[in-house]
Amino acid sequence: MLDAELSGYNRPLDYNPCVECKLCVSACPVGAIGADGHFDFSSCYTHNYREFMGGFTNWVENIADSKNAHEYRSKVSDSESASMWQSLSFGANYKAAYCMAVCPAGEDVISPFLKDRKGYLQDVVKPLQDKEEAIYVNANSDAEAHVAQRFPHKIIKRVSKSVRPRNIAGFLSGLPITFQRHRSEGLAATYHFTFTGDESYEATVTIREKSIEVKDGHIGKADLRVVADSRTWLAF
Ligand code: SF4
Repeated sequence: MLDAELSGYNRPLDYNPCVECKLCVSACPVGAIGADGHFDFSSCYTHNYREFMGGFTNWVENIADSKNAHEYRSKVSDSESASMWQSLSFGANYKAAYCMAVCPAGEDVISPFLKDRKGYLQDVVKPLQDKEEAIYVNANSDAEAHVAQRFPHKIIKRVSKSVRPRNIAGFLSGLPITFQRHRSEGLAATYHFTFTGDESYEATVTIREKSIEVKDGHIGKADLRVVADSRTWLAF
């Protein structure tokens, strides 16, 4: 029951408002949106959600691992500490969301883009691309390579993975989410995993043509067999 008069009902769009301008692709600092529409969740999560749960844990570990304030400051700049304080005090900040900031899709925002594309790029997209800022990435990830190549003026900050599986099912279902397709270029391999102990599980992971497939059971011929105690594997 609503105690207000409704002026209209929201209805799902019956068309795709995307104009294929690829500005989201070019604005994303970590290259999480591929020109082919592929979305790299872990690159987006590691950077954009830095001041949400995942990044917060890593920040706390930075404090815990530092012998003293000097060592802490060598890892976390004053502006980063201030930004984390702001997130803890007033609600978590996104670190980027540039894809949405530049997206001209939608009746109420498209006209400036259509009227003057060059001006739109200059006023809306370029300032975000040119911004000198810390970009959070996992070591040797597609995101790290993307920042170094596309935005060398941005500061690469390597952080540990914040997506940590709690069980083997979580590990296996997480593989496609954390898969680094560009790093896998040229790799064609089939892995047979056998987990023992707390969780007994068999799975086949196939990496080929920059894509990954995870299936239950042992399928096909393995290039590598991994037999591991499930708890030890998760700790590893
Ligand atoms: S910026 Fe928006 S309109 Fe342009 S390609 Fe991306 S989603 Fe589509």
